[in-house]
Amino acid sequence: MPRLVILGSASAVPDAEHQNSHMLLQGRNGAILIDCAGLPLVSLHRIGVGIEELTDVILTHFHPDHVGAFPGLLMSSWLMGRTSALRVAGLHHCLQRVEDLMTAYHWEEWAGFFPVAFHHLPEREGVLALDNEDFRITASPVRHYVPTIGLRVLVKETGFVFAYSSDTIPCPETIRLAQGADLLIHEATGDEPLGHSSAAQAGMIARQAGVGRLGLIHYPVWKASTEHLVGDAAATFEGPVFLCEDFMEIQLER
Ligand SMILES: [Zn+2]
Repeated sequence: MPRLVILGSASAVPDAEHQNSHMLLQGRNGAILIDCAGLPLVSLHRIGVGIEELTDVILTHFHPDHVGAFPGLLMSSWLMGRTSALRVAGLHHCLQRVEDLMTAYHWEEWAGFFPVAFHHLPEREGVLALDNEDFRITASPVRHYVPTIGLRVLVKETGFVFAYSSDTIPCPETIRLAQGADLLIHEATGDEPLGHSSAAQAGMIARQAGVGRLGLIHYPVWKASTEHLVGDAAATFEGPVFLCEDFMEIQLER
């Protein structure tokens, strides 16, 4: 059965129990990493996913807490003997900078490096980001400091649909992206800094999109209480609300 594993749930500052927000989507025919932060290789090992199983990476935007671990993941994979190609999808703004980073590391000199195929997505709503035997994933621009995409994932085996807001202020693009989904995973960084959403605003978006349930992610953990978050969102959204936690496993079925 396909599954979603939350690998990190913190906003920009992690702590010992919460890595920066990223997640793994695992199907029968491979696994997809959504953003690349914290210690992805260690986390994949912990949940029993081999590095060769990883077929795709989707990067939502070029901020260190979302893409900072990507160069290290590539190097580790190479050193562990990966040979199969890795596909990487994201907006041009993000992928261009990731390639520049790798150029700064002189990756062209890494002998026998496996192929990496960058898939530059156009910056418009509802573009196809990935379509394989397990999942169909579309992307839409949301509203953050830098060009950023939210995602909508259809699980082909079960018909389950979930959306992920990535980092954004409350916006109509997210409502359209999540429309009628079984689950919305929405950021809950808070009113400050600007460019983000509070848990109550995440609840409003969930309500307007008519989703089945709401998971809060990308919330402050450093010297911050998380106890009020679910209640804040429940005040604006009638459906079930939960807090994403690192290594939480979400079954992708109705
Ligand atoms: Zn960000």
